[in-house]
Amino acid sequence: MTEGPHTTQRHRLSKKVQAIPASGIRRFFDLIANMDGVISLGVGEPDFVTPERFARAAFDAVRRGETHYTSNYGLPELREAIADHLERLYGIRYDPAKEIVVTIGVSEGLLLATHAILDPDDELLCPDPYYVAYLPACILAGGAFVPVPTAMEHAFRVSAPDLEARVTDRTKAILLGYPANPTGAQMTREELAEIADLAARRDLLVISDEIYDRLSYGIPHTCFASLPGMRERTVLLGGFSKAYAMTGWRVGWACAPADILEAMMKVHQYIIMSAPTPSQYAALEAIRNGEEDAQRFRAEFDARRRLIVPALNDMGLTTVEPGGAFYAFPSIRSTGLDDVEFAERLLQEAKVAVIPGSAFGECGRGHVRVCYAAPRTALEEALERIRGFLNRLQSAEPGELAGDPSLRSG
Ligand code: PLP
Repeated sequence: MTEGPHTTQRHRLSKKVQAIPASGIRRFFDLIANMDGVISLGVGEPDFVTPERFARAAFDAVRRGETHYTSNYGLPELREAIADHLERLYGIRYDPAKEIVVTIGVSEGLLLATHAILDPDDELLCPDPYYVAYLPACILAGGAFVPVPTAMEHAFRVSAPDLEARVTDRTKAILLGYPANPTGAQMTREELAEIADLAARRDLLVISDEIYDRLSYGIPHTCFASLPGMRERTVLLGGFSKAYAMTGWRVGWACAPADILEAMMKVHQYIIMSAPTPSQYAALEAIRNGEEDAQRFRAEFDARRRLIVPALNDMGLTTVEPGGAFYAFPSIRSTGLDDVEFAERLLQEAKVAVIPGSAFGECGRGHVRVCYAAPRTALEEALERIRGFLNRLQSAEPGELAGDPSLRSG
C-alpha cells in the first residue's frame, strides 16, 4: 500500500493510546542511563535482593518439571495461601476457587479491574497525586479518569466529602491506593469507613490497590474490603513486589466477589493465560514462610524514613510524615524552581535522581518524589548532595529557603 498524506502517526495509533501521557518517570531513567555516579532515589522498588529461599523454591519447581501453565486462576495452593494470609491479617475470607486470581503483579490486576467494570465514559474517581499507572489503566479500559485533589496540609489524605463532590450519574467506581505512591499517605480506619459509607450510599465500586499494606508505620493498615458491607463492592489488589522484595518475579493477586472476578478472568485468560509458574512457586514460599523477611524489610524502611524526613525538613523542603510505603514527597516550592526544573538541576548538578511530582498528577506539582528504598549510606550521601545543591542555589539566588514549619514532622 502506498503511503498517502493521511497515513500520519496520528492516524496509525489509536486515540486511546495517544491519550495516555508518556511516563514522567521513564523520561528520568533515560536521562540517568548515560550518567556516572548518580544516586537514584527515583525507582520505586526495594533495594533488597529476593531472599534466597524464595528463589530456591522457584528453581526446585523448575527442576521437578513444573514448567507448564498453571490453572488460569493460578496455583491452587498459592490461592489457598493468599486466602489464609488475608484472613490472618484482616479477618476477611475469599474463596480460593472463585474469588482469587494470581496476576502478573498489581499492574495486571489494575487493568483487569478497570476492564471488567468500566463501560465507555464511566467515571473513575481517584485521589490526586496518583500512581502513574492509574490513569492509563482507566483510559485503556475506555473510562474517564476524574482526579480528586488532595493537599499537603491534609497529609495527602482524601476525604469522603471531596470524593462525593465529584460523584455524577456516570461515576462507577473509586480507585484508592493506600499507603500511597507517591506521597506515602496512609488513611485511618475512620476515614476509610466514611468512604465506605459513600460507596454504599451512591452504589459505587471500589478498586483498592493495597500493594504497600505491609509497609505501614504508625496507622495500622485497614483492608478496605474488610469494612462492613465493602467485600461485595471491592476489588482488592495486592502482591509480592514490595513486601517480599520480589518486583522482578511479577506476581500479585486480585480478590473480588465471584461475578466481578469471573469478568476479570475473561480478560486475564486471553491476555496472560497464567502468571509465570516458577514465580508462583517463589511467591508460595514467600507467603508461607516469609513473614520474618517482610518484618525485617519493613523495620529497615522505617529506619530510613526516620533518617530522611527530618533531614529534608531541616533543609527547608517541607515534608509531611509519610505513614506508609517508601516515599517522601517534599515540597520544593521554597526553592523558587518548579518540580521539573528542580529534579533536572538536582540530577545534573548534584547527581541525585528524584522524580518531579507533576508526573503523578496536578496536585503533585511543586513536589518531588524521593524513594528511600536505598541503602542508608546512599541516603546519607544523597542528603549531603541535596544540602550542597540547595546551598549553592541559595547563594546564587538569595532568598528564603524555609518551608512552612507547622507542617514539619518526623
Ligand atoms: N501499585 C502501586 C501503588 C505501585 O507503586 C506499584 C509499583 O510501583 C504497583 C502498583 C505495581 O506493582 P506490581 O509490581 O505488583 O505490578
